[in-house]
Amino acid sequence: MTFPASAPTLSDVQRVLAVFAHPDDIDFGSAGTVAGWVDTGIDVAYLIVTRGDAGGFDDTPRDQIPAIRESEQRAAAAAIGVKQVDFLDGYQDGRLTPTFELRRDISAAIRRFRPDRILTSSPLRRWERLSGPSHPDHLAVGEATTCAIYPDSRNPFAHPELLEAGLEPWVVREVWYSGGPNPDHTVDVTEVFPRKIAALRAHASQTAHLDLDGGWLRDRMVATAELAGLPAGRLAEAFTVLRTE
Ligand SMILES: [Zn+2]
Repeated sequence: MTFPASAPTLSDVQRVLAVFAHPDDIDFGSAGTVAGWVDTGIDVAYLIVTRGDAGGFDDTPRDQIPAIRESEQRAAAAAIGVKQVDFLDGYQDGRLTPTFELRRDISAAIRRFRPDRILTSSPLRRWERLSGPSHPDHLAVGEATTCAIYPDSRNPFAHPELLEAGLEPWVVREVWYSGGPNPDHTVDVTEVFPRKIAALRAHASQTAHLDLDGGWLRDRMVATAELAGLPAGRLAEAFTVLRTE
């Protein structure tokens, strides 16, 4: 199973909702692209499903991790220029599945923010690389978000409590998947790379021990750019883009 070829991207996007499992997911895979959107005047909001309570690498007391990681994600968003960061309650890092409740909560966020475009993690596993993008929480959020795009957020009879709460149906027109197999829509983020690094450094509980500027991350972004035929030395992020009208 894989994605079809990416569709041409929409040119009239006003709002983008980014839906991811953990603090830092957006920033590793997509923050440069988000920075570019912010710079063109697009209103971007983040919806993070957990506070990353299973993350970290040192002896920080475990009960402090959720609050630390929430504030890190808010600082990372500020570095990119994103002002709205919302967290869902009631979901635990490492225990996500695409439940009806998760679909409902993401649908509520969609109906509230009314995005033209959704950015989320891939629901498709990359079999050649089980770590990172293929974390089960990432796959679960990609699947639940896809179900929220179609049919839940556009069907007035899905999750009737949403309509009762005044949340009218909404059609998301486009989805960008990060971290999936064979991404074929590449974005040159060289100019905004310093902001991506600043965002990643904001996640100090996860990244303080990493060489962000010169290590594997830069190597991967150079390789992504080269694969897309960009000039030498450019840095890129890659996605699969599908129309969902
Ligand atoms: Zn993650």
